[in-house]
Amino acid sequence: MVEFTVEQTTTPTSAEQRAALMADPKFGRVFTDHMAVIRYKDGQGWYDAKIIPRQPLQIDPASTVLHYGQEIFEGLKAYRGKDGAVSLFRPEANAARFVASARRLSMAELPEELFLGAIKALLKVDRDWVPAEAEKSLYLRPFMISNEVFLGVKRANEYLFIVLASPVGGYFSGNGSIPVWVSEHYTRAAIGGTGEAKCGGNYASSLLPQQEASDNGCSQVLFLDAKERRFIDEMGGMNVMFVRKDGSVVTPPLGGTILRGITRDSILKLGRHMGLTMVEEPLAIEDVFKAAATGDITEAFACGTAAVISPIGEFRRKAGSVAFGDGKTAGPVTMKLRNALCGLQRGEEADPFGWVHPV
Ligand code: PMP
Repeated sequence: MVEFTVEQTTTPTSAEQRAALMADPKFGRVFTDHMAVIRYKDGQGWYDAKIIPRQPLQIDPASTVLHYGQEIFEGLKAYRGKDGAVSLFRPEANAARFVASARRLSMAELPEELFLGAIKALLKVDRDWVPAEAEKSLYLRPFMISNEVFLGVKRANEYLFIVLASPVGGYFSGNGSIPVWVSEHYTRAAIGGTGEAKCGGNYASSLLPQQEASDNGCSQVLFLDAKERRFIDEMGGMNVMFVRKDGSVVTPPLGGTILRGITRDSILKLGRHMGLTMVEEPLAIEDVFKAAATGDITEAFACGTAAVISPIGEFRRKAGSVAFGDGKTAGPVTMKLRNALCGLQRGEEADPFGWVHPV
C-alpha cells in the first residue's frame, strides 16, 4: 500500500464560496482545492505519491507529450447517497481500462491499487466537494502524460499521473432529447488504431466533426466505421443504444474501434437483470434511418459517465433527419434504464453486482 503525503492548501475554499460554485456548475469548469500526483521513471517505478493544492504544472517545452501526444485519461464520478455516504461506481473498471489505454499508447502501466489509492486519498481531503443533489456528482479525471525531455520519436521513460476533481451537474444543458449529427466524412477510429484507448488524440480528431455537428444544431456527433462508413460506431464522448418496438435494446458490438464504455457494459448487464433483451450487433446507419421512420426503432439514447443516459431525439445528416419517437420526450425503456442505473449509482437501489464502492 503506497502512502500519499498530504499537503493541504493554505487558501481553502470557504463553505459559502463552495456552495456558490457548486450551485450550478458548468461541466468541467469548477475544480476542488487539491489534486493527486504520482511520478514514474523507468528503473525507479512509481514514486512521489502525493496530494497537493491544485496548481499549474511546470513542464519542459521539450516534454514528449507536447510533441507526440502520449496522453491517456479516465472519467468517473463520486456520488453522495441520501444518507450522506460517498461512493464510486465500478472504479476498478476505470483502473483496468487505464492500464489497457497505457498499453496501447506504450506508456507505463499504473497498478490498479495506485489508481484507486490516488482517488481515495484525494476524496479524503476534498470530500466536501461531493454534491448532495440527485443530479450532481463529483467528476474525477485521472490522466497521465509522458514528460521525458527529449525530441526523438520513441516511448518516453518518464510519466506524470494526476487526478483532478470537478463538481458537475448534467452534461447537456436543458433536459430534453439531444439532436445528433451523423459524420459521413470524418471518422474516429480505424481497425488497428487507438479507438479502444481513452487517449487525448482520439478527442483531438473528433473536434472538427463535433464543430460540424454544432454548426448543424446538434449537441453530439455520431461516428461510422472507418472502412465503409456504413455501420454505427459510437459518439464523440459516449456510446449509443437503440430500442426496438419489441422492447429489445441494441448497441454496436465492441470491435476494437469503440471505447469499452463502463456505462454501456453496466446497462447491458442491468437490462438483462431487469429481464430486457439486450443485443450487441452491428447497426447499419441506413437501416437505423429506415427503422426510425417506420417505427421499428422507437427510442435512442447516449450513454456514458458524463451523459449518464441521455435520450436522443433525432439523427441529422446532409440528406435529412429522422426522429426517434416524437423526437422530444424520452421513451419508456430509456427512462426505466436511466432510473435503475441512477438509483444504483446513488446507492438507493440494491446492488446485486457489487458495483458500488464506498469510500
Ligand atoms: N465513448 C467515448 C468516445 C467516450 O469518451 C466515453 C466516455 N468515457 C464513452 C464512450 C463512455 O464511456 P464510460 O461509460 O466508461 O464513461
